[in-house]
Amino acid sequence: MTKGYITEIFSSFQGEGPYAGRRQIFARFAGCPLSCFYCDTSYARDPRPRFCNVLFLDKKTCIKRNPLSTNEVMDYVKELLTPDLHSICYTGGEPLSSTAFVKEIAKEAKSMNFKNFMETGGYSAGAFASLADYFDFASVDIKLRNHRAVEEKDYDKLYSNELECIRIAVDRGIETIVKVVVVKNTALGEIERICKDLSDFDIKFVLQPVTPHQRNNEDATGGTQIDIVPSVKELFELSEAAGLYLPEVMVIPQLHKLMGIH
Ligand code: SF4
Repeated sequence: MTKGYITEIFSSFQGEGPYAGRRQIFARFAGCPLSCFYCDTSYARDPRPRFCNVLFLDKKTCIKRNPLSTNEVMDYVKELLTPDLHSICYTGGEPLSSTAFVKEIAKEAKSMNFKNFMETGGYSAGAFASLADYFDFASVDIKLRNHRAVEEKDYDKLYSNELECIRIAVDRGIETIVKVVVVKNTALGEIERICKDLSDFDIKFVLQPVTPHQRNNEDATGGTQIDIVPSVKELFELSEAAGLYLPEVMVIPQLHKLMGIH
């Protein structure tokens, strides 16, 4: 049986995209090869955390020693079950960094009739292809150049992997959401080009205005985070640009941040 590293397991509402407000059990897998400047889960980028925090429904937190087995993860999932559950959300960090472990958990969850929801930055189409059959929903991010997720020289490779993950998800009948985090002065042309590339796919497209960090109010360039939030006028323009190519375009901020929940 595969073992792996998880940062935290908890029950909450989905905070992003068209399923915002749906109850999910979140498994936040450890490690991420990207480095988005707006990252709000940088604590989950350590690939080998010693402990996993399990937040139970009575609000008690148990600290479990990593790595965890699939059986242990499924035991926690059963303890976190609520009548309103929509799905298990595999998030991060980056779940594709733990491919074999994620696949084993997703397979087990599927055999128990849970629905599986993947949140990924889409950095490896090969990893995604190997586990996509166990997923019902996939939310794939497209990173913009100014997100600094990778070095400039590696951006085209990241972008083509993201597009390939989306193609695989759609081909395999997975309900597919594509999310782009947008900051102030996001170029209309860049969003138009991405949407043109996506125009053959049956997807829901989400523009998510960046949420300023609450803990650290400065971005990597020393500017204040509040300076990077796009205006409503910009969001209208970006949405209209996306709508030229895609039928299902939505602008949705992070609900969990507005609600002040995990
Ligand atoms: S892909 Fe997600 S976890 Fe990784 S750096 Fe970007 S925002 Fe953070």
